[in-house]
Amino acid sequence: MMEDLDLVVRGRLALAHGLTEGDLGVRGGRIVAIADRGTLSGADELDAGPALVLPGMVDMHVHTGSEPDEGIARATLAAAAGGVTTIVDMPYDDPEPVDRPDRLARKARTADLEAAVDVALWATIATDNGGAAIPQLVAGGAAGVKVSTFETHPTRFPRIPDGDLLLALKHARAVGCLVAFHAETDEIVRRLEREHANAGVHRHALSRPPAAENHAIAGVLELALATGAPVHICHVTTARGAALVRSAASEGADVSCETCTHYLLLDEREVERRGGRAKVNPPLRDSQEVERLWVAVADGSIDAISSDHVGWPLSKKAVADVASAKAGFPGLEVTLPLLFSEGVVRRALPLQHLLRLLCERPAQRLGLWPRKGTLSLRADADIVVFDPGARWKLEDDALVSSAGWSPYAGWEVIGRVVDVFVRGVLVNSGESGVGRSHGRFLSPREYARNAESPVRQEEMQ
Ligand SMILES: [Zn+2]
Repeated sequence: MMEDLDLVVRGRLALAHGLTEGDLGVRGGRIVAIADRGTLSGADELDAGPALVLPGMVDMHVHTGSEPDEGIARATLAAAAGGVTTIVDMPYDDPEPVDRPDRLARKARTADLEAAVDVALWATIATDNGGAAIPQLVAGGAAGVKVSTFETHPTRFPRIPDGDLLLALKHARAVGCLVAFHAETDEIVRRLEREHANAGVHRHALSRPPAAENHAIAGVLELALATGAPVHICHVTTARGAALVRSAASEGADVSCETCTHYLLLDEREVERRGGRAKVNPPLRDSQEVERLWVAVADGSIDAISSDHVGWPLSKKAVADVASAKAGFPGLEVTLPLLFSEGVVRRALPLQHLLRLLCERPAQRLGLWPRKGTLSLRADADIVVFDPGARWKLEDDALVSSAGWSPYAGWEVIGRVVDVFVRGVLVNSGESGVGRSHGRFLSPREYARNAESPVRQEEMQ
C-alpha cells in the first residue's frame, strides 16, 4: 500500500503494452506507482471515469518566436490546452536566431520563467563557419541543431551551404548532436518561382514540387551516411521522402523523420479555397500523396508527427497576394484531438501507434525518454485525460494561440483533451483553463543524467 502520494489519476491508462484499467500514483512530479484501479489513494485524486489517461505529447517542432506577439508564454498555454506537455522550440526567432550560446541561455531563462509546459530548444548555426559552435550549444543544453537547405530569411532562417553542412555534421557526430533539416532545394525553388511567376495562387506549390523536397532529402541523407551524424528530416510531405529515409537507415545511417498534422489532414485544393491561409513550406500536396503519407505513417516509415506550430495572425495570412503571406499554421492545441479523430476513429490507426508517433518516438529521438513520452514508473507525471467520445466543433474563437484562427475551423472532431498535468501539476482543465507557468527548460543531457535519481518504486501488484 502506497502512502503519501501527491496525486492519483484513475482511469484507462495508455501504458506501453496497451490500455489498462488502473491507478497512476504521483509523488514529487514523477510516476512512482502503477496499480490496479481503485487501489491507490493520494492527497489529490482524479477519477477519469471512462476517459483515456495518455502520456503528454512531445511536439518536436514548434515556432514560438517567429511571431513575437505569441512567444513562449502564450504558445505553451496553447500546448497545455492541446495535451502537449513538452515542446521543442525552433531557433528561428524574430529578430535573432538562437545561434549562439548566450542567446540559447537567454531563451532557456525565458522558458523557465514563462512556460506553461516543459520546453527543450533547438539551436541553429551560422552560415559560414561549418557549425563550429555546435559543441558549445550542446554544452549549453540545446536538444539539437536545426538547419535549412532553403533560405527563408538571410539572417534569421538562412540556407547553410552544403560544404558547411558537411563540416557541421562532423561536429555534430563528435558530440552526439541531433541535426534536424528543413529539406527543400533552394536552386529548384528559385528557378521555378520565376517559371511560374504568373500562376497566381498555385505559384507557391508549383515552385516547391515534391522533387524539390525529395532532392534535398536525398542530399542530406548522403551527408548523414558519410559522417554518421544523427539526422532528423523535418516535415516530410511525401511517402517517397520517408522511403528515402528508411533506405538510408537500412544502410546504417542514424536518421529519422517526421511529418506534420496538416500534411495528413489537408491537401493542395485548400489554396484555391483559402489563399494565403493555406500557405506552408513545404506546400500541401495532392490528395493521392496524402493517402500515401497515411500509409507511411501506419507502416512505421515515419517516426513522428509534429504540429510545426507558428502563431501567425490572419493579418499575415489572409492577404490578397499569396506570395506575401507568411508560411505555416497554428497547430499545437489541435494536433492530438484531430489525429485521434481522423487517425484513430476514422482510419482505425491503433491508439498505441499514434502515441508512439506523438509521444514516445519524439522523446526517444531527443534524449528525453523515458522521463518524457511514456506513462511508466519513474517517468515525469506528464498526464493527459482525454475523452474519446466527446464530439465537438473546432471554432476559431475558442482557441488559445494568439493566432486566433485554425485551418480546421468548422471541423467536427471526436475526442477531446480534458485535463493536462505537467510533472504532476494541473496546467489545463477543460474549457476553464488553468494556465500556470509551471513549465521549465529541459536540457536533454542533464535530464538523462538525472534519470536515475532515486524515486521509490512500487510495482503493480
Ligand atoms: Zn518549422
